[in-house]
Amino acid sequence: MTTAVVDEGTFIDEAAIDKALQAAATKDAGRVREIFAKARELKGLDMDEVAVLSSVSDPELLGELFNTARDVKDAIYGARLVLFAPLYISNLCTNDCLYCAFRVRNKELKRRALTQAEIRHEVEVLVDQGHKRVLLVAGESYPKQGFGYVLDAIATIYSVKRGNGEIRRVNVNVAPLSVSDFKALKGSGIGTFQLFQETYHRGTYASVHVGGKKKDYDWRVTGMHRAMEAGIDDVGIGVLFGLFDWRFEILALMQHVRELERAYGVGPHTISMPRLEPAIGSDMASEPPQPVSDVDFRKLVAILRLAVPYTGMIMSTRETANIRRETFALGVSQISAGSRTNPGGYEENEKFDTAQFQLGDHRGLDEVIRDVADLGYVPSFCTACYRLGRTGMDFMDLAKPGDIKHHCDPNALTTFLEYLIDYGSEETRAVGNDLIARKVAEMDDVRRAHTEKMLDQVRAGGRDVLC
Ligand code: SAM
Ligand code: SF4
Repeated sequence: MTTAVVDEGTFIDEAAIDKALQAAATKDAGRVREIFAKARELKGLDMDEVAVLSSVSDPELLGELFNTARDVKDAIYGARLVLFAPLYISNLCTNDCLYCAFRVRNKELKRRALTQAEIRHEVEVLVDQGHKRVLLVAGESYPKQGFGYVLDAIATIYSVKRGNGEIRRVNVNVAPLSVSDFKALKGSGIGTFQLFQETYHRGTYASVHVGGKKKDYDWRVTGMHRAMEAGIDDVGIGVLFGLFDWRFEILALMQHVRELERAYGVGPHTISMPRLEPAIGSDMASEPPQPVSDVDFRKLVAILRLAVPYTGMIMSTRETANIRRETFALGVSQISAGSRTNPGGYEENEKFDTAQFQLGDHRGLDEVIRDVADLGYVPSFCTACYRLGRTGMDFMDLAKPGDIKHHCDPNALTTFLEYLIDYGSEETRAVGNDLIARKVAEMDDVRRAHTEKMLDQVRAGGRDVLC
């Protein structure tokens, strides 16, 4: 299903959002519980229902919200958590986003665009840690070959092979492109294309994007239409929380989701919810205009889990280890680990004067994995869906009836076992092997036999064993 590319963000209807928020304020507990019951059917929620949940403050109802989100997360994702690392290739940028250290007028930042050889080194470090997925990130200005720089970088990343290690999926977070550039990006073999609107509120958008191409709200908000038109069917949307009222933002996110579903038959593959973090040379980043408290942050994660149950939710190392742990239970399905936000940051461990923002979680990959496994979650490096062509609508067709679990559970365990054998510390290996044994024991007979067979292949030296 395709449609003509839209060039205006009229599908974000601010008046409708305001109306829904006003109406929601008067709703009673009975209505809230009806919405929880609907959410448990795993069919998602509409914008008015999201508005009602966003106005819940009664502790008892909040507890029920969190429990419902836990159950929905469990039903669809089980105990899996997919891991990735961001790879910052360049901090050159011609835009002036007041919250970001990479903005053009920031003179405190050292500028750097990695060469292909430097990108290769970074990837070698990540592969040697055990990573299989990276998220390529860059500012909106490329060295002299233009956007070809990003395409070359993707080819470089995929070309790295170290022992049993390699990057099997490159996701990309760069500025929005034309349809023809998106086609070239698709041709480079990317997984998800990510683009955050930052804020869907036009007035706020204008006041924080004060220079460069990113000033154009419509070009950005219609970016995913062009990506999908170009054949990229896994797209990741997001909001930078702290710029405007989070309630408004999650309703607008719903409008964006529904618009993509209307136009292309499938919504976003992932949603990201970064909160503003301190950044060199940005006063706004240290004092967000509309900060989101930890309680509201948990609430918004839980509400999104109920609203779009089949959409992956990504939590980055911007958040502290504690908040990350809490939100795993509420709906997060992918996390970054061991991250650096400065180009060259993996090789040159301690230099942060080129970084985009401060991290909340500084632990290395092995420590994060041990922690996650200790909590009972299965760290997954699986990239099967994308490599077997299960993307976009095909993915959703499998995901919606719940069939995807039959692939994900064994694939998570085999890729976790690969990690433990090839990269895990002794301590992590002990915790991990114990978890794998418990998870296999919980399976029914047929799935257990199938999974045991796959795990035995990995133990015998097989890699990339997937179904
Ligand atoms: N330059 C491209 C763009 O702006 O879309 C892509 C890369 S940009 C570095 C990736 C994301 O970083 C932005 O979309 C924004 O949400 C996030 N970001 C920027 N400054 C931040 C800050 N101070 N704290 C947390 N996230 C931030
Ligand atoms: Fe540049 Fe992106 Fe940072 Fe804005 S958010 S200054 S476009 S890197």
